[in-house]
Amino acid sequence: MSDNKDDQLYAMRHSLAHIMASSIQHLWPEVKLGVGPVVENGFYYDVDLGAQQLSADDFERIEAEMAKIIKAGEPFQRLEMPVLEAVDWARKYNQPYKEELLNDLQRSGTTIAKDLDAAELGLAADGDSKVENVSFYRNGDFTDLCRGPHVEATNKVGAFKLMRVAGAYWRGKDSNPQMQRVYGVAFATPKELRQHLDMLEEAKKRDHRKLGQELDLFVFSDLVGSGLPLYTPRGTTIRNGLIAYSEEVREKLGFERVWSPHITKTELYKKSGHWAKFGDELFLVKSQETDDELVMKPMNCPHHAQIYAARPRSYRDLPIRYMETTTNYRDEKTGELHGLSRVRSLTQDDSHTYCRPDQVDEIFDSLIEKVQEFYAAIDMSLRLRLSLRDGSDAYLGPDELWQFGQDKLAKIAERNKLDYYSQEGEAAFYGPKLDFMAKDAIGREWQVATIQFDFVQPERFELGYTDEKGEQQRPIMIHCAIMGSFDRFFSVYIEHTAGRFPVWLAPEQIRLISVNQEAATVEFIDKVVAQARELGLRVKVDNSNESVGKKIRDAEVWKVPYTVVLGEKEIGGGELVPRIRKDLVVGEDAKSYTIHEFLKTVANEAKMRVSKTSL
Ligand SMILES: [Zn+2]
Ligand SMILES: [Zn+2]
Repeated sequence: MSDNKDDQLYAMRHSLAHIMASSIQHLWPEVKLGVGPVVENGFYYDVDLGAQQLSADDFERIEAEMAKIIKAGEPFQRLEMPVLEAVDWARKYNQPYKEELLNDLQRSGTTIAKDLDAAELGLAADGDSKVENVSFYRNGDFTDLCRGPHVEATNKVGAFKLMRVAGAYWRGKDSNPQMQRVYGVAFATPKELRQHLDMLEEAKKRDHRKLGQELDLFVFSDLVGSGLPLYTPRGTTIRNGLIAYSEEVREKLGFERVWSPHITKTELYKKSGHWAKFGDELFLVKSQETDDELVMKPMNCPHHAQIYAARPRSYRDLPIRYMETTTNYRDEKTGELHGLSRVRSLTQDDSHTYCRPDQVDEIFDSLIEKVQEFYAAIDMSLRLRLSLRDGSDAYLGPDELWQFGQDKLAKIAERNKLDYYSQEGEAAFYGPKLDFMAKDAIGREWQVATIQFDFVQPERFELGYTDEKGEQQRPIMIHCAIMGSFDRFFSVYIEHTAGRFPVWLAPEQIRLISVNQEAATVEFIDKVVAQARELGLRVKVDNSNESVGKKIRDAEVWKVPYTVVLGEKEIGGGELVPRIRKDLVVGEDAKSYTIHEFLKTVANEAKMRVSKTSL
């Protein structure tokens, strides 16, 4: 929240949280209120109605009550009182959740921040000192413990809509009472609200779980287990195409493929530092013969470090670059699994560079260029986040390296003229990183590629190289993944394209439709199929006895890039006019081609990875 417009929108959303809480209180006077923070695109308030439960059916009444309060233009007034007096206030109005917060605040300013973000509570709770006074905001008959900011009056809140209600434990702990969280979205103008609601509607249509099923891309099986996706032939075609491209761009930089097994002794991760950080996310594996404690590998970096460490290295050997696209396993909580976005087996397009400090710039520049090349090919624009450390003690590695790394990243972003912003607290525990955020077709931003310094593993695994003077030095390690987790990336990509994959990735690039089932037609089509396959094209024939119109519509449902109807004219040596999927078209009129011309052009499009047709 930096500029005024954002501050204003924040105040609007926060004020709406108060207005919603007061409306709920008007309708259910016995309501016990929790907290009501601003969240992305809107706000929520946690409420407890005892035995009663709110549902979406109540939204109309609540919204009508909110409209009344908004129309009244009640001013928001700030008042302050000593915290002890505030505790009495909470008790008097039978607000036990507020009372608990006030008691915590009174004990120590930081108690609250420990189990819930202070900002979410709407309280000033930074610093170690005890809080003496607390602030309240009042509008009309409603008063709430709050640190602001608010708009001046209830009629200055923009446009809003209540969206959903969900269960939420008080302060996020499952041992606490369960409350209900009522969410709303809010924007400065009705037009912006409309756009947001349209986007949500469109996002629903593009949901990768829905399209994954409709377009037969991946499945889940109860017998295999939750969070363990299985890719169908169609899904695997796209998967292999994306992985091959991600590896190909790095191969051009001199990356070499390596391979590591899927189970590993726990010692490896104890030594790398991952065990202490992520130990509870690992799947344990037991040997029936030895006492070895094994885990399913959650990442590949420590393995690659072992390959590096296996031979003496000289400054002349550097940089050494390894890449491996491989599946990692993480024991994510069942409740957090979601389609392909959150899975327990995830395939990473991982790579590691070991280099000297004087090579860092060149390596980052070349990796940035390749990330840009990849995302240009799939039509997503990128923004860069410099993920830096904050003041906490969550980070390992020497300070001077962190200083070096963070300064470097800022200079690299400047030099490459990238659209970037910095964010503290987003660094990995082992080093600062460049995270790429990709914008999808409906304006949502997703974290995708990453290039990261690692100041910890070279130290922990005692990696070295001999410099010009014959002395041992530590290499710098740089992680880079272009898609990150393929599975999560694929969920984003399906929603970005709405399942309309470009020719180079489309599982079925061409569909041939027969006008009849006569022997001459079938024979001709077989020949076309053979020619197409010879050119490496993925082609399917619809020789069913449905009408041609029905067959064309079916090809549309499957979002096939090119559909060709083959009948007497084509069989007699005439030219064909391909039907081209709308999003691929740039010119106006459909032209005709010989079969050979057509197939060669499509094969070339696939090879060049173009996103529009040249036909
Ligand atoms: Zn407030
Ligand atoms: Zn790595």
